Amino acid sequence: MTAIFRAPVLIVGAGPTGLAAALFLTHRGVTVRIIDTAPAPTSTSKALLVNPRTLEILHDSGVAARIMTEGTRLTGACLHRGTKIVAAIDMLALLPGQPLIAIPQARTEALLIDALHEQGVDVERGVSLQTLEQNAECVTVSLQHADGQLETTHAALVFGADGARSTVRQQLGLAFEGSSLPEPWRLWDVQLQTTLDPQRAHIVLLPDGFMFLMALRGDIWRVIGNSADPLAQLPAGSVPGTVSWQSQFHIAHRLASRVCVGRVALGGDAAHIHSPLGARGMNLGIEDAWVFADCTADALDGSLQRFHEYGQLREVVHHRVVKKIEAMTRMMRGKPAAIAHIRDWIAPQLLKLPQVRKQMAATISGLDHPLRTHP
Ligand SMILES: Cc1cc2nc3c(=O)[nH]c(=O)nc-3n(C[C@H](O)[C@H](O)[C@H](O)COP(=O)(O)OP(=O)(O)OC[C@H]3O[C@@H](n4cnc5c(N)ncnc54)[C@H](O)[C@@H]3O)c2cc1C
Repeated sequence: MTAIFRAPVLIVGAGPTGLAAALFLTHRGVTVRIIDTAPAPTSTSKALLVNPRTLEILHDSGVAARIMTEGTRLTGACLHRGTKIVAAIDMLALLPGQPLIAIPQARTEALLIDALHEQGVDVERGVSLQTLEQNAECVTVSLQHADGQLETTHAALVFGADGARSTVRQQLGLAFEGSSLPEPWRLWDVQLQTTLDPQRAHIVLLPDGFMFLMALRGDIWRVIGNSADPLAQLPAGSVPGTVSWQSQFHIAHRLASRVCVGRVALGGDAAHIHSPLGARGMNLGIEDAWVFADCTADALDGSLQRFHEYGQLREVVHHRVVKKIEAMTRMMRGKPAAIAHIRDWIAPQLLKLPQVRKQMAATISGLDHPLRTHP
């Protein structure tokens, strides 16, 4: 690829996926341009868990060390039914030396932004991709700036990391197929007086759904639930106080029909979405960024075939992870009653089997598949 561009790679979206891709490419000596519609980085906690796979791939940039210094280590998870703990997973024993770190997504993004800034790259904010066309030589995009100015520019390769409603995906004409759950899930970051172990995540089985609780910082806990009134169904000994963030969302499990078309690739939520159970969303996006950077850096020095290997490698992983998380989610949400019965009485027994516990630990840690950058 010989043409001269302002930056050979344009990254659309500066969430965790786009930021990580920019960082990985910059470390490989590739000049990138990264744009984001939003005028400022996110301030919400959203994804709370950084898994061992993400720490592994952020190690060389120094970001993993900063995440481990700032975050807190999660030692495992407990499954509660009524007032009893009916199963527990000890991550320290199952995956020694592979930490799971709890840290708000806004902080993970801030640490990626800092690391990128140290490499001389800053996100161009208030800049939205509007349209995209490509031919054998390059990709032509139109960008709208916050002041209304329109810009037409070219790049050798484009990475669409622009989230679940991806304009890049739409411009490629790709389907985003899958299904949604009917009921809303509600989320709180809330002060909690509680006797629950703050170093463990807690899943509480309820007659009309489930609840997930995890300590965020100090006495602030993340609570997610799909029942009628989750905060009224907190485990015994837990009393809610001030709410610092509250949100409501619908769960969908969807996959882009392809993740690489010509000179354009998709990563993160633009390519796959699923429920937060398993804590894979942000982590899978950062892994996409790693594989994208490896394939792209080689492609700029050689042939487009290497760029297309990104699609071959990631579509298989996305499909497996999304299907697995969807199955876990459909079991855990406890609807209809027949599923709730299996969940309440059979799942805790299954979780006592060493092989099942190992698989669960591998899923949560992101180590359920090898990190491959070559087919
Ligand atoms: C409540 C909640 C809890 C979650 N918990 C977890 C968890 O525990 N663990 C986990 O791994 N994941 C979790 N997730 C999922 C995680 O937040 C997402 O998977 C993650 O943010 C996806 O990152 P991304 O960079 O792919 O996309 P996003 O974070 O959505 O970033 C996309 C960016 O693109 C920008 N953009 C959009 N369109 C354009 C355009 N046309 N031009 C330029 N820029 C554009 C947006 O402004 C945005 O900044 C959770 C999500 C939610 C909502």
